[in-house]
Amino acid sequence: MIALSTLKGRTVAVFGLGGSGLATCAALAAGGARVIAFDDNSASVAKAAAAGHETADLRHIDWSGLALLVLTPGVPLTHPAPHWTVGLAHANGVEVVGDIELFCRQRRASAPASPFVAITGTNGKSTTTALLAHVLARCGRDAQMGGNIGTAILSLEPPGPGRFHVIECSSFQIDLTPTLDPSVGICLNVTADHLDRHGTLEAYAGVKERLIAGIRDGGTAVIGIDDRFGQAMADRAERAGRHVVRLSIRNPLSDGLCLEGADILRMKAGAVAHRFSVARVGALRGTHNAQNAMAAYAACEALGLTGEEIVRAMKTFPGLAHRLEQVGRIGNVLFVNDSKATNADSAEKALAAFSDIYWIAGGKPKEGGIGPLARYFPRIRKAYLIGEAAEDFARTLGSHPHVVAGTLERAVQLAAEDAARDGALEPVVLLSPACASYDQFANFEVRGAAFRDLVKGLQDPALRPARG
Ligand code: ADP
Repeated sequence: MIALSTLKGRTVAVFGLGGSGLATCAALAAGGARVIAFDDNSASVAKAAAAGHETADLRHIDWSGLALLVLTPGVPLTHPAPHWTVGLAHANGVEVVGDIELFCRQRRASAPASPFVAITGTNGKSTTTALLAHVLARCGRDAQMGGNIGTAILSLEPPGPGRFHVIECSSFQIDLTPTLDPSVGICLNVTADHLDRHGTLEAYAGVKERLIAGIRDGGTAVIGIDDRFGQAMADRAERAGRHVVRLSIRNPLSDGLCLEGADILRMKAGAVAHRFSVARVGALRGTHNAQNAMAAYAACEALGLTGEEIVRAMKTFPGLAHRLEQVGRIGNVLFVNDSKATNADSAEKALAAFSDIYWIAGGKPKEGGIGPLARYFPRIRKAYLIGEAAEDFARTLGSHPHVVAGTLERAVQLAAEDAARDGALEPVVLLSPACASYDQFANFEVRGAAFRDLVKGLQDPALRPARG
C-alpha cells in the first residue's frame, strides 16, 4: 500500500467506496490524513465503516475544512451531469481528484525519479498494460501493475528507485488526474467511445492527450498515429520537446514502429534497427495486437531494456482472460474465449485473426448488429447463434451456414462436433459474441468462464454436463 504522507493532518472526503475507494481510504489513513467516506449505496458505506473509516453523509458535513474530494472514476465529473458531490465541491472551492492524482503527488514528493508508465487509448489498454508489466517482470524488474486494469493504484508498492509503475488509465481516470506526469506515456488509439461521458469526440481526444501533455522533460511519448488524432498529438508532443515514438499498423514509417507483412520493424532514421514478430504468440494474434506489442516495445526500450530481451519476454506472454484466450485444444481444434468482444468492432479483430472459424456469437444485441462483419463471413465455416440477438444475426448471415443454438452450452457442443470433422490444419471454435452478455450472464467474465468450463467438460467427459 502507498501511505499518502503528502496529506498528513488534512481532512479528505472520499466518495465511491468500491475497491479503489476503499484502497484510497486506507492509503490516506496510513499517511495520517483524516478520512470521511461516503457512497450512494448504504452497503458500501457500511463496508467502509467496518474497515474502520469515519463515514458521514457528505451533504451534511462542513466542506470548508476539506483539503480534497477524492472521487471514484465511475462517478460523472461533467457528463451527462456532474454528480451532486461535484456540485458541492465546486460550490465550496474544494478540488476534486482521483486516486491516480494522489499517487502522482506522492511520487513527486517522495520518489520523483521512479519510473511511471501510464497507458491510455480507446482499445488495447489492458493488453498493453499487462504485456508491458510481463516484459518488465520477465526481465527482472520490479513491475507494479494497476489502475483501470484491476488493482487500485494505491494498493501497489510505493514508488521508489528501480520500481516500475505500469498504470492503465481510462479517460475517466485521466479526467480526475490534473497533474498526471508519467515518465513514459502511451496513447494507443482514439476512436468514438464513451461520448456520453465526454460530450464530443474532440473533448474525449483532448482528455486522452492530457496523459501525453503531462509527460515530463526527458520522458517519452508513445503514440499510435493511425487515427486522425494520433498524428496531431504526436506532432504537438514533439514541438513541446518530448521524445516521441510513433506507431503505425497501416503505413510504413522512417522513424518509430511499423509493420512489414507479419514483421514489426523498429525504424530509426530510415533504417531497420530491429525486426521481430509476435504473430506466433497465441495471446498476441491479430494486427491490433501488433499495435499493442509495438507500444509495449517502445515503452520498454525507453525504460532501458534491449530489443532482444523485450522480444524474448514477449514470447512468453500468457495473455489476458476473455481476450483471444486459448482455453483448450481437442485434437487439432483450438477453442478461443473472446468473451470481452461485446461489439462488432471487437469481434472483427478476432475474426481477422483466424481462418476456419466455428463462430459462437449473440447475446444482448448492440446497435448495428453484425452487418459490418460481412467481409469476414467467408472465414466462418458455420455460426452458432445464442441469446436475444440470434434471430437478427441469422437474418444478417442469410444463406451463410448458421444455426440458432440458443444457449452457450448447446453452441459449444454443436461447434465442437462440427469442428472435429473439419479437415483444416487448425479449426477454431471461437466465442466472440459481438454482443453484451446481460441477457444470459451477469457479465462478460461470467460468460467467458462458462465457455471455459464447457470446453473443459468436452476435454474431460467426467466434467461434461448432462445433455438436456
Ligand atoms: P481495453 O482495456 O482498452 O478495453 P483490451 O486490451 O482489454 O482493451 O482489449 C479489448 C478488446 O479490444 C480486444 O478483445 C480486442 O477486440 C480489441 N483491441 C485490443 N487491442 C486493440 C487495438 N490496439 N486496437 C483496436 N482494438 C483492439
